[in-house]
Amino acid sequence: MTTIQPLELLAPLAGVLLPLDLVPDPVFSSRLMGDGICIDPTSQTLCAPLTGMISNIQDSGHAVSVTDDNGVQVLMHIGLDTVNLAGKGFTRLVKDGQRVVAGQPLIEFDADFVALNARSLLTLMLVVSGESFDLLAPGTGLVATGQPLLRVTAEPRMAVEEVEEGEALFSRPVTLPNANGLHARPAAVFAQAAKGFNASICLHKQTQSANAKSLVAIMALQTVQGDTLQVSAVGDDAAPAIKALAALLVEGCGEAIAVQAETLEAVAPVSSASVLRGVCASPGSAFGQVVQVAEPELIVIELGGGEVLERAALERALQHAAEALISLQASVGGVQKEIFRAHQELLEDPTLLEHARELLAQGKSAAFAWNQATLATVKLFQGLGSTLLAERAADLADVGQRVLKLILGINDSAWDLPEQAILIAEQLTPSQTASLDTRKVLGFVTVGGGATSHVAILARAMRLPAICGVPGQVLHLANGKQVLLDADKGELHLDPDLAEIEHSEACRQQHALRRQREAEHAQQAAVTRDGHHVEVTANVASLQEVEQALSLGGEGVGLLRSEFLYLERNRAPSPEEQSRTYCAIARALGVERNLVVRTLDVGGDKPLAYVPMASETNPFLGLRGIRLCLERPELLREQFRAILASAGLARLHIMLPMVSLLSELRQAREILEEEALALGLTELPKLGIMIEVPSAALMADVFAPHVDFFSIGTNDLTQYTLAMDRDHPRLASQADSFHPAVLRLIASTVKAAHAHGKWVGVCGALASETLAVPMLIGLGVDELSVSVPLIPSIKATVRELDLADCQIIARQVLCLEEAAQVREALRLYHMATVETLPVVEH
Ligand code: PEP
Ligand code: MG
Repeated sequence: MTTIQPLELLAPLAGVLLPLDLVPDPVFSSRLMGDGICIDPTSQTLCAPLTGMISNIQDSGHAVSVTDDNGVQVLMHIGLDTVNLAGKGFTRLVKDGQRVVAGQPLIEFDADFVALNARSLLTLMLVVSGESFDLLAPGTGLVATGQPLLRVTAEPRMAVEEVEEGEALFSRPVTLPNANGLHARPAAVFAQAAKGFNASICLHKQTQSANAKSLVAIMALQTVQGDTLQVSAVGDDAAPAIKALAALLVEGCGEAIAVQAETLEAVAPVSSASVLRGVCASPGSAFGQVVQVAEPELIVIELGGGEVLERAALERALQHAAEALISLQASVGGVQKEIFRAHQELLEDPTLLEHARELLAQGKSAAFAWNQATLATVKLFQGLGSTLLAERAADLADVGQRVLKLILGINDSAWDLPEQAILIAEQLTPSQTASLDTRKVLGFVTVGGGATSHVAILARAMRLPAICGVPGQVLHLANGKQVLLDADKGELHLDPDLAEIEHSEACRQQHALRRQREAEHAQQAAVTRDGHHVEVTANVASLQEVEQALSLGGEGVGLLRSEFLYLERNRAPSPEEQSRTYCAIARALGVERNLVVRTLDVGGDKPLAYVPMASETNPFLGLRGIRLCLERPELLREQFRAILASAGLARLHIMLPMVSLLSELRQAREILEEEALALGLTELPKLGIMIEVPSAALMADVFAPHVDFFSIGTNDLTQYTLAMDRDHPRLASQADSFHPAVLRLIASTVKAAHAHGKWVGVCGALASETLAVPMLIGLGVDELSVSVPLIPSIKATVRELDLADCQIIARQVLCLEEAAQVREALRLYHMATVETLPVVEH
């Protein structure tokens, strides 16, 4: 038996104090994890409430426990369900086993990001070792960081559990099904269940063991999905204990799990850890060896050796980085080139340089000043809650590292990789991706990233199979382990059998052959075997992409995302500059080809630096696209004028994004007519709208008489129809454009348009999926506007189809219940037709 001295716990945060009973989560409010308090934070740094040792800080940075010398253990948990953020928004300032003093900062967090992306910001401080306490502040109201909050009473603690003697019984190995491992919630459920037995019980993960009755000890195992765990017990009730606890692990310890395994026997032999799942960032498959690519730790010393010296070091590094980026631009084309150009521009950003120089003037080192300046801007970008700016943040972080390594004299030349490498990384930067040697690298797998990131765009352009959003467990795979990457399914197979490998290799070779044939025939028209022509055009964001599209057989531009032309700029381009850009693009296309210019689609996930906007609670449902332009008609007027300058150089079409009301179309048309009149144009360019909001799709018959064409934006149409954020990492697999609800809207839009003699294109990502092509043609879509590298593939697919068959399959899929069924029906159809037919010569 031990006694403890009275101990005061300080408030770990500033904020509003709430009783635990008000926490909207039974695991906390029922005190299953322990008694304590809750704070709704107003500060963003979590500090130690007591002096002691870090007994556990979760890898994801959302929870930390401190144990003092008397064994009092205090757990702090930031937010509810924050484990799902997988570390995003949290910065750990301490390590496991580190001694800390009361008041010391432990974790910094981005309150806005957490509040926007997790269930709640409510932060818990719980005395998990079970001592009672008195509250030193009123039960509710404001508290300041460091304010004494609880007095742990000097009562004898519970007797330390007697460790039972004897031979331990072990459960069969269990594969942990919980997506986020045994984090606080399932760990508490498990510990509570273990406490129901007299036996001494341990939970084992490889060579590590934890007292199964201690929440913190379980959390300290830092388990991840797919870990193999065993329960052991010694004592009278050891047998029922391991049976019950192993079953609890199999069932997910109270959490919903993807695959419900009924019994231990059902789970043990077929380890779910043999496949790790993520989201497809770039299609294809590859069999190769694991190569873990971890970044070297960069040691940055704060104090410099004098301003002149340090300033020179920074200028030198900036100069070398710029040279490296220029030579990279010369060695690549298309998207890669643009990314490096954007990186080069970031190096010249005046605000960034000013910040770094201010720090140099304060005596800091070049490395410190540059690092601080880039980190501050990265944080700013990440904190704005915009996917697009978060991606820009990744670019800035990438450039920041490039310069920092140059200052520190670290050689960052391409990795020395073995053959047949499947790279595994927490995250790859765009420049790392673009510099990959594709003779050696067969594909890559990342824990972070999303399907819309620059890295994913690059991987697709380089035709490297890749998956992202894979559980962190992947970072523990041994180098050299043979794995099978099936990016189409978003899977990494850890123990592929020979048949799977052979099948994947055969598919890869078949795909490579097919791509080669497609490229050879890229200039042929996309006409079905029974003579139906489908226009295959390109989605572009620059003149360079237009040129690339033409060389790959693009028949025109179906979507010029005009907002991307000036995304990196913080000043509006002059009207002359805008006109020059549109004219150059139109000239490259020529009078025979369509140019569909979409007016600025700003807002939502695409803020434009030179169009300041108030922040919105739901930007995707806010002032986006045409709504914003009509709020600022001068912006639309100026853009119309610039676009109209290119009239006559190509078959000019103007398209309005995010239209949901007929009045929006009417207002925009009026402005366009006024501008055309002012320019003395006798003929108006074609005017169309994007169909990407359900109201526009449902009212297509009403819109049709007032437009020249429709183009269906399936990316947004899917997010708005299914009410699923298109960039939400956890909804990525469900926000699927193959959902019959989306397909029905496409079908009715086409029907309404054709009834009025108007054509319909699809410019969302669905058009770039070969699997979707027969269905879209069967639904009557006239034009497919696709991602540039996929033009030859989509055209070849069209040439292998029969319109009559496409119409049958289209009718079938409209009657199915869910996206997976549609995909399966189309896969079977694809296997039965496209892959068995030779390429048809026209
Ligand atoms: C779409 O929403 O499908 C579309 C093409 O527009 P964007 O992806 O640019 O929003
Ligand atoms: Mg859209």
